[in-house]
Amino acid sequence: MDLEVQKILLQAGKIASQVKHEGAKKLSKPGTSFLEAMDYCEQRIKDLGGQIAWAQMAVNDTAAHYCPTEDDTSVSKEGDVIKVDMGVHINGHLADNAMTVIVGSSNEHKEMVKAAQNALKSAIKLVRPGTPLWQLGEAQYSEAEALGFTTVKNLSGHTIERYQVHGGNSIPSFNNKDKTELKEGWQIAIEPFVTNGQGLIKEKGPATIFMVGKERGVRSPYAKKILEYVKSQQGLPFTTRWLTRQFGKGPAALGMRELQQLGIVRSYPPLAEVSGGIVTQFEHSMIVKDKPIVYTRTEQDEW
Ligand code: MN
Ligand code: MN
Repeated sequence: MDLEVQKILLQAGKIASQVKHEGAKKLSKPGTSFLEAMDYCEQRIKDLGGQIAWAQMAVNDTAAHYCPTEDDTSVSKEGDVIKVDMGVHINGHLADNAMTVIVGSSNEHKEMVKAAQNALKSAIKLVRPGTPLWQLGEAQYSEAEALGFTTVKNLSGHTIERYQVHGGNSIPSFNNKDKTELKEGWQIAIEPFVTNGQGLIKEKGPATIFMVGKERGVRSPYAKKILEYVKSQQGLPFTTRWLTRQFGKGPAALGMRELQQLGIVRSYPPLAEVSGGIVTQFEHSMIVKDKPIVYTRTEQDEW
């Protein structure tokens, strides 16, 4: 990989890690507004010199893909298990990382947090050219199992490309028999989701996260304006409140309905554990080498 790109990734990774920790710290205090926390994270990404790929969170049995709307009044509550997932890019070069915090002083799910950290660490230790993907999955799964949990099988890590969150290969969190081998220079994110539930997620509730798929002509001015507005994301995600704040709720809803009906915009609803199990997650992005460059790992990350 180009040294210049490597430098940029390290820069994006540092910002992503920093904002992840700041967001997690805020949310770990009971009574923190989810909306305020995510607005804060977005602002911090920009302040630190990054570009927003996304600022997302998820609570308890929701594993991922929750983003507050502008009128979301939810606040963190003692004992909540909150995942903070930050995506930062610099000219499309992406850093994707996540961590889990427990709100307040509850110890109830500490072991599950530990299990997800262990799973991530174990998998990273195996990262080098030639490692088959199933092995990364098995490492994650056995760490979860060792502490009495399981991994969420239908969520996975992924390769990363420029302006592309999911680059085409999935990194499993169990032995899925995928013999594909890691290649030198690949950019990958490893992200075990650990649960005390069944180990599967399904979509639950309305989406607030979207991405533009294939672009084509649209009729209504609302849809046109939205497409124009999200163009700068270049295929990276955008969220409902950006649109409602820019255009108002009515126009945003009308425009989004058309864009989804035409298949131009794809929605990503919240993902919840099927049996209501609590979910923890940790994630790092890295460049595959004999000694991988885990570019979202900073001194603040003990995992
Ligand atoms: Mn992520
Ligand atoms: Mn990811």
